[in-house]
Amino acid sequence: MQTNFTSAQLADPHVAESEKILRKCVHCGFCTATCPTYVTLGNELDSPRGRIYLIKDMLENGRPADKEIVTHIDRCLSCLACMTTCPSGVNYMHLVDHARAHIEETYKRPLLDRMTRAMLAFVLPYPNRFRAALKLAGFGRPFIGLFEKLPALKPVAAMLKLAPLSIPPASPTASPGVHAGQGAKRGRVAILTGCAQSVLDPAINETTISLLTRLGVEVVVPEGEGCCGALVHHMGREDQALASARRNVDAWMRAIEQGGLDAIIITASGCGTTIKDYGFMLRLDSAYSEKAERVSALAKDVTEYLASLDLPEPVRKPGTIVAYHSACSMQHGQKITRQPKELLTKAGFVVREPREGHLCCGSAGTYNILQSEISAKLRDRKVSNIEATGASVVATGNIGCITQIASAAKLPVVHTIKLLDWAYGGPQPEGVADSGLIAAE
Ligand code: SF4
Ligand code: SF4
Repeated sequence: MQTNFTSAQLADPHVAESEKILRKCVHCGFCTATCPTYVTLGNELDSPRGRIYLIKDMLENGRPADKEIVTHIDRCLSCLACMTTCPSGVNYMHLVDHARAHIEETYKRPLLDRMTRAMLAFVLPYPNRFRAALKLAGFGRPFIGLFEKLPALKPVAAMLKLAPLSIPPASPTASPGVHAGQGAKRGRVAILTGCAQSVLDPAINETTISLLTRLGVEVVVPEGEGCCGALVHHMGREDQALASARRNVDAWMRAIEQGGLDAIIITASGCGTTIKDYGFMLRLDSAYSEKAERVSALAKDVTEYLASLDLPEPVRKPGTIVAYHSACSMQHGQKITRQPKELLTKAGFVVREPREGHLCCGSAGTYNILQSEISAKLRDRKVSNIEATGASVVATGNIGCITQIASAAKLPVVHTIKLLDWAYGGPQPEGVADSGLIAAE
């Protein structure tokens, strides 16, 4: 694509980076066919190509964001299906991240929208605040119907609908410390405790630590780590996102200095995509750029790490039919497609892949709160494709997808690690049945 930026504009490194990305786009439109919002809404401006034109126009003319561009960028899920499809290697992720930061800087949203976003950024990344907010959700639940009728309050209704009726107690496993590996030592890793996942389902990290330590891996929960910054990054709040990234880089660098790390284990793929991008996000910060590159190189999804170990034969082979839902951040963001399915198959599960596996389930960070109508359409499409597989459980590697799919599916939705842990001697995940088709060994 031809661009017309002035040299003064290109002196801004963010603009220079976006210009490089824009020049790679050849307008072929292949990406439109796999874009969930184009597939759902049928509007070119809600396709990757349409959004790329809008961003180019805004940046090239150096103008503030307007209502039109905000509408179409807000509707983008950042699912990155367009990046998987694009034959020209257009880095849409970095382009839309820049556009979101530009919107945040130059556009004044309506008051209620600003308040909702500020509240999400204040609550979600902090486990104690999030836990308290979920407890308060019970008081708002009777008013969901009323909130749904008022367009400006739809996000509040969506939040209340997503809030679980009960939340598990905080996990002691999430506290800083070292969990020793059993038997011969096979590695030393740090684990991201994260934010929303540690409140909604602390058993995911507990299970991960239990399985890894049984396999001989020492697991460190470093002092000082927290939210990866993805939630606010996708809202264009760059300063807050970069502060989270720096804090985590510091925490993991200390763990590296205190005994080395083979990997930084991440159990929510949405966080994994962002942490693997820390090197880029902090490239202009000379105090952090090298350390951030190092951290990004060490970041591994738990299935990616397990696939690199020589796993023993499973203790039992459940034979359960599993629909594997590949989160967008897993398949498009991190290009991890093979490992989770291979691990599940090796562990004795029968893996089925739902149709239209490339399409987002509509969760996408805060998307199911801020764009609840499109999100619900995508969720229902995803659930019907999952249910058509005839599976008795859904496995996926991202807490956002688990919450989203479970809000409409009739079958249990669990993190992949819980099924693997079961096969390797851990407890049977709640609600998941053993098929009895394959005898336990
Ligand atoms: S990130 Fe997803 S929703 Fe956004 S333009 Fe790309 S394919 Fe469409
Ligand atoms: S597929 Fe790639 S090159 Fe083609 S229009 Fe989409 S972003 Fe541009």
